[in-house]
Amino acid sequence: MKKLPALFLSALLIPAFASSAKHHEKKEKSDPSIPPVVTPGVHGTPDKAGTPPSDAIVLFDGKNFDQWESGKGGEVKWKLVDGAMEVVRGSGSIRTKEKLGYGQYHVEWRTPEVVKGSGQGRGNSGFFPLGGPEVQVLDSYENSTYSHGQAGAIYNRYPPLVNACRAPGVWQSYDVIVHAPIQDEAGKYLRKSAYTVLHNGVLIQDNMEVGGSLGKTGHLALQDHGNPVRYRNVWFRPYQDPIPMKRK
Ligand code: MG
Repeated sequence: MKKLPALFLSALLIPAFASSAKHHEKKEKSDPSIPPVVTPGVHGTPDKAGTPPSDAIVLFDGKNFDQWESGKGGEVKWKLVDGAMEVVRGSGSIRTKEKLGYGQYHVEWRTPEVVKGSGQGRGNSGFFPLGGPEVQVLDSYENSTYSHGQAGAIYNRYPPLVNACRAPGVWQSYDVIVHAPIQDEAGKYLRKSAYTVLHNGVLIQDNMEVGGSLGKTGHLALQDHGNPVRYRNVWFRPYQDPIPMKRK
């Protein structure tokens, strides 16, 4: 067959596309699947804390402990230093006053600049969303310890995929996505509650199952493991996986 000239083909196709686009645009106005607009924040740097996206629930903005209490309830005994929360040895873990749910948790953290101790004794703290297992906070920069105990490990369960740890005294970040469990109509788990973790923007845990259900809400807790680790720019964005599609 003789080929049609390209120009002729475009003339035929453009009106078809235009009409399809118009149809979609009309539909758009009442379409609930159109994503809401979010103004992104700015990533933290070693010198400056990041800022949260516009739809985040801000848990710590560098000013006070208003959103926090001791792990057993009552006043926080940690220190505020240069816009960060610093662990005070022996004062116990702290937790958010509010119970939060499934979604995206963000935190910046920094292990002490002056290195003391080794292995698990070096810059140890921890991040516990929804009362679930610990995402380990540790100075894992040229510091050997067991794999499921290093920074970004889901403690005692899963080592991180890679070691993306920055040097002691340099600010780092975690984004922890806590996924709700997915069950079929009979209640059988298709996937249990799971964590996905990015360390300094690097994927280190991908949808790792951590339990049947973490409870739909729970406090976010930060661990006192005896080392003066600091935290800043802590925020949360509620998110629930879309209703599961039927899987075969
Ligand atoms: Mg720990």
